[in-house]
Amino acid sequence: MLVGVPKEIKTHEYRVGLTPAAVREYVAARQEVIVETGAGAGIGATDGDYEKAGARIVARAADVFSQADMVVKVKEPQPQECAQLRPGQILFTYLHLAADRPQAEALLKSGCSAIAYETVTDARGGLPLLAPMSEVAGRLAIEAAAFSLRRHAGGRGLLLGGVPGVLPARVMIIGGGVVGTHAARMAVGLGTQVTIIDRSLQRLRELDDLFGGRVQTRYSTIDAIEEEALAADVIVGAVLIPGASAPKLVRRDMLPRMKRGAVIIDVAIDQGGCFETSRPTTHDAPTYEVDGVIHYCVANMPGAVPLTSSHALNHATLPFGLALATLGLKALVNDPHLRNGLNIHRGRVTSKPVAESLAFNF
Ligand code: NAD
Repeated sequence: MLVGVPKEIKTHEYRVGLTPAAVREYVAARQEVIVETGAGAGIGATDGDYEKAGARIVARAADVFSQADMVVKVKEPQPQECAQLRPGQILFTYLHLAADRPQAEALLKSGCSAIAYETVTDARGGLPLLAPMSEVAGRLAIEAAAFSLRRHAGGRGLLLGGVPGVLPARVMIIGGGVVGTHAARMAVGLGTQVTIIDRSLQRLRELDDLFGGRVQTRYSTIDAIEEEALAADVIVGAVLIPGASAPKLVRRDMLPRMKRGAVIIDVAIDQGGCFETSRPTTHDAPTYEVDGVIHYCVANMPGAVPLTSSHALNHATLPFGLALATLGLKALVNDPHLRNGLNIHRGRVTSKPVAESLAFNF
């Protein structure tokens, strides 16, 4: 199969669909790869790096879309990309169609088979192609907190880990899933006092085992959240209720009772956020202040570290991409989890949740 990688064109998107290391795996599996010139620039990968891995460089995105049997990307296709997709072509990328009717209509019109990273599943009920970005966002959350706590950034002027004789910061993490666990790893590593709140007792038991007593765990009740929030220097919002908006767990009326210069990192902002006062921000202007509490609500946190994010994403997508490249759509018959990724096929919506949320026939 001929696999094509265009340069990402969404504003501030520096990740790339295939890294040179992934290209080498496709080529070793006897697949052909074409890459648009400059596609890897955002992660410091040159055209020469791709050629060394066995890819052919093409001058324009149009060359990728017109020649490739499968297009591998990161972000959902923009309108001018959708217009270049054609019947029989496979698109493998993040789509997030449930809230994007214009994109769904454009993909239906194209006749392509669109496989969404975010709906591919695994045997444990997880979302293996979303998890790497949650790992990145969780770890980044504590870096963002460290920066925002500094005085010149509006924070309390507190060093996360303290120093001998001076207490470290208190970090409260709401939601102990992938984001929460990775945030906790970083926070524990820096020597902070960490409390993880979750509504799954099973998850709290696992976290207790995992961290061997180095974090406190608490069951998620209104009382527990209020008590911890008022004592916290940093709160990381990392809850997820699959298919639903994030619940608003920290209300506005709690902010004036929190510490001045405390920091809220609302990672769940891409699902609406779990703080009543959250609104999406960007890497250019990541924070704002409400009632003396600094809010960091960047909706695409992994975009800040495209090098790490591209490699992490490629490691997760590689086995699925290779299966598609070698078997075509037959790979979906062999693997029901990859089949769950198929959102659109030859003019029909093939994902029940997407069809339901956009009121399409299924
Ligand atoms: P996950 O499913 O692994 O974990 C979510 C956890 O939240 C679960 O353990 C669940 O039990 C817990 N939870 C649900 N309701 C709760 C409640 N009321 N109180 C306490 N805990 C509760 O999800 P994840 O992969 O860790 O993702 C968390 C959020 O981060 C999602 O909204 C995801 O979309 C988002 N995210 C954002 C970015 C970004 O750039 N901002 C990047 C990656 C992920």
